[in-house]
Amino acid sequence: MNGEKGVEDYAYGRAWLELDSTALRRNVEALRRRLPASCKLMPAVKADAYGHGLELIARELQKAGVDAFCVACVQEGIQLRKQGIAGEILVLGYTHPKQFELLNIYRLTQTVIDYDYAKQLNACGKKLHVHIGIDTGMHRLGIRSECLDQVLAVYQMEHLCVDGMFTHLCAADMMAARDISYTDGQAEAFYQLAGQLKERGYPCPKIHMQASYGVFHYPQYAGDYARVGIALYGVLGTKEDTLRWQEELQPVLSLKARIATVRTLYQGESAGYGIQFTAKHDMRIATLAIGYADGLPRTLSSGVGSVLVDGQRAPVVGRICMDQTTVDVSGILHVQAGDEAVLIGHSGSQEISVCDIAAQAGTITNEILSRMGARLERVCL
Ligand SMILES: *Cc1c(COP(=O)(O)O)cnc(C)c1O
Repeated sequence: MNGEKGVEDYAYGRAWLELDSTALRRNVEALRRRLPASCKLMPAVKADAYGHGLELIARELQKAGVDAFCVACVQEGIQLRKQGIAGEILVLGYTHPKQFELLNIYRLTQTVIDYDYAKQLNACGKKLHVHIGIDTGMHRLGIRSECLDQVLAVYQMEHLCVDGMFTHLCAADMMAARDISYTDGQAEAFYQLAGQLKERGYPCPKIHMQASYGVFHYPQYAGDYARVGIALYGVLGTKEDTLRWQEELQPVLSLKARIATVRTLYQGESAGYGIQFTAKHDMRIATLAIGYADGLPRTLSSGVGSVLVDGQRAPVVGRICMDQTTVDVSGILHVQAGDEAVLIGHSGSQEISVCDIAAQAGTITNEILSRMGARLERVCL
């Protein structure tokens, strides 16, 4: 049975993500078109590629010619290396000193998150590649931009090889006058530091400050890399922003689940935990094989959220459980066990986007995506 897929390869059993590799490739191209030729994409594939699945996304990005990535932690970097990713991998966040050797073994580039941290990295005694994080106003990580001496000292550390320097914009998603002036101030502080280094004979190899919103709102701040995350996956933080750029970006992910069973709920009966829902009249309800442990926010319970079945909306009935969710399919004919329900994506002429779910849950798309459950099956189309 050569080449035939085994039962373990079936990925549409219970609840699954479908990844549109064409959409991903188009997003890569759209983002490249927005950037000058000298600025390379350094996609953020942290948090399992924003919930999409690191392996599949990294493989597709590699096919699209991407050769630099950024991740949140050393384990994510190792996972990429084990998958055969050869290019630059920047760890954006904290690595414990006991794990510094892993940076060397797996050729991962570590962010210098402050000056003392640089000293610890250097004390490891192994040659380590770093990008210096510069704090220009987010006040989360990085050496303060006015501390030129500390930056110079990092350059002189014996075991550290400074491949780059970057800052992170913290108000680039909004375009009120206050946000624009804050962002311009961040960029100015960053460029000023880069200029001072150059004057002293330390030209910085690679500089970067744009994430997704930076690319769209501040094209003038393109550096050597653009650390694009959310936009690569075809959406922005909110529905409004996503609609604004929908000509250029296409959502990569759809979330679907099986209908496990369909039954009648008679008038006066209740459904689910906490007896929160009581049927006002006889109705048909379907139980889906997906729950909050799969990343469906529990705040979508009791009619806040809905799913698509056969092109029609089926509101959530009662409380979303850890592994299951019941929906009202009363108005939908011929629904039966084994059918598909769409939680994110298209069904007939209807669509539920991850932006809708984020709005219902009172958060941004990034959070909904990055919390997609590890046990979801994942298929690349
Ligand atoms: C996550 C992250 C990014 C990517 O951000 P998006 O807004 O998703 O594009 C870029 N830079 C840093 C430092 C990050 O932590």
